[in-house]
Amino acid sequence: MSRTVYVNGDYLPEADAKVSVFDRGFLMADGVYEVTSVLGGKLIDFPGHAARLRRSLKELDLTSPVSEDALLDIHRELVRRNGVVEGMVYLQITRGAADRDFVFPDPATTTPTIVLFTQAKNLIDTVAARRGIAVISIDDIRWGRRDIKTVQLLYPSMGKMMAKAAGADDAWMVEDGVVTEGTSNNAYIVKDGKIVTRNLGNEILHGITRGAVLQFAREAQMEVEERPFTLEEAKAADEAFVTSASTFVTPVVSIDGVALGDGTPGPVARRLREIYIDESQKAAL
Ligand code: PMP
Repeated sequence: MSRTVYVNGDYLPEADAKVSVFDRGFLMADGVYEVTSVLGGKLIDFPGHAARLRRSLKELDLTSPVSEDALLDIHRELVRRNGVVEGMVYLQITRGAADRDFVFPDPATTTPTIVLFTQAKNLIDTVAARRGIAVISIDDIRWGRRDIKTVQLLYPSMGKMMAKAAGADDAWMVEDGVVTEGTSNNAYIVKDGKIVTRNLGNEILHGITRGAVLQFAREAQMEVEERPFTLEEAKAADEAFVTSASTFVTPVVSIDGVALGDGTPGPVARRLREIYIDESQKAAL
């Protein structure tokens, strides 16, 4: 069945949803995005995603073509029109279509492009959650503003391919001897009951799920330390996990072929996944 897609003010059948070949998102990856998950037909942590979007736009001197209230309405309307019960809503805003030039076009004459679409997908009951995932380590050679959620995803995409070629599920990126994050998720280790994850900065994306999970962990009296950790530390950890909007909390059971603990999902990751799914559903919009 054809989906309904939102493009620049219109709800269209996906075959009719088009953007210009001159769009700067296409030519220069000059755009930002958000992925908000849907559980029970409701949006998980929309305010968090809206806040990060606002920040990404500001950092790139981009203006949203629609207000934040309208954005929530569009998300909900798309979920309704497509009958999504479990899955996600993808949102992208680019600087719009203009003659190709490295200099930003005049915002007075170039309107940003906005596109939203849905993807139905099982998020709660997944093989990755049940069995945990295997990750490999790769060099983090991305640009220096990873805190902005831009659509330049070529290296993360290559990282997933490197993982696949190595028979693993994903890759953790390493820079200056310490783990930054996963290709599309934030990375955590657990040692002696303490949860360790990279502190926020320009080096990683400020995961919305990360923020929520750390809050839930602290509320559950778990010890949390936000600091860089090395690959060696990670391989010697009791357990590890990743977080993202569409995978929630997913256990990591091996790194570069080294099994963590007994090689099955650890208790902290399993508990945090449960808490996150429960709590975020209670607050869903
Ligand atoms: N880091 C990177 C590089 C990502 O691409 C993502 C997912 N977009 C995350 C972390 C997790 O962020 P969130 O929890 O907001 O999905």
